[in-house]
Amino acid sequence: MQQIYTYGGYLKEKFGCKVYKVGINISGFTCPNIDGTVAKGGCTFCENDSFSASSDEVKELKGFHLNLDSSENPFLEKQLLQLEQQFDAISKRQAREYGAEKFLVYFQSFTNTYAPFDTLKALYEKALSFPNVVGLSIGTRSDSITEETLEYLAELAKESEIWLEFGIQSVYDETLEKINRGHDSANVKEWIIKSKKAGVNVCGHLIFGLADETQEMMLETSRAAYEWGIDSVKYHPLYVVKRTALANEFTRGEFTPISEEEYLEVLTKSLEMKPQHVHVQRVTAGLDDDALLAPQWCRDKNTQIKNINKALKKVGLKY
Ligand code: SF4
Repeated sequence: MQQIYTYGGYLKEKFGCKVYKVGINISGFTCPNIDGTVAKGGCTFCENDSFSASSDEVKELKGFHLNLDSSENPFLEKQLLQLEQQFDAISKRQAREYGAEKFLVYFQSFTNTYAPFDTLKALYEKALSFPNVVGLSIGTRSDSITEETLEYLAELAKESEIWLEFGIQSVYDETLEKINRGHDSANVKEWIIKSKKAGVNVCGHLIFGLADETQEMMLETSRAAYEWGIDSVKYHPLYVVKRTALANEFTRGEFTPISEEEYLEVLTKSLEMKPQHVHVQRVTAGLDDDALLAPQWCRDKNTQIKNINKALKKVGLKY
């Protein structure tokens, strides 16, 4: 049985110990696909409260949103404090419960390069100053990163482990339009290649089960993402969360979620064609609470992983 190259395995190899990602949610960040710069309402599946951390931890920040042109940020000190408090609480728990020894600060909610450069610099530098932090992982959109920010990250990458996480979702522009993504596939390709060239590591997020996509289309997305040079990958089934545009489509009978059987099939094929050096950060996703509308198989993570391993076993792979 061949063990799939996992992100945890890669980090252990590189740092010689358990390295954990500390997911951070900074209030005041938003997304150009939500604030009306690119589009309004966001991607059809996006329900922002579904991000793991509470978005109103710093109450005064409610209603305040940064963008690339914000001329000032009166809440920077509060954001820095929020970053410190979240890192402290989460990293201590990870050390206690899982034996984590080193950490990557993961800016995960919304678009974490979508703010004035000075704000980004202050937050990233603060994160890198925390004890046992070896680097950053920054979740963003390919249309929301500037040359200035990429150049700066490339400098940081000379000393630290620096990652950009881009939502690729699909290489088909007609699909990206259907999910109101607000950018095309060429834009993602361009920024993945640029980031790699600058020496920044790239993780690509892929979604299987987008409306009207055939299995061949999903596999073509995987193929393209591997070809563009991603270092790491996260696979997700598209599930429907209440209070989203996708929930309305589902309720009207206009969207049918992917079945577990099909997901297992496409995931297995995508993993089989994955270049060996690309590490896997996630093989599925779901939500075990009332907000999940469908499909029900996305509720129980343990069963999902068990079934994924059963499917992978048939082709000699193990996650
Ligand atoms: S890019 Fe991310 S944060 Fe923005 S609308 Fe889409 S899923 Fe939501």
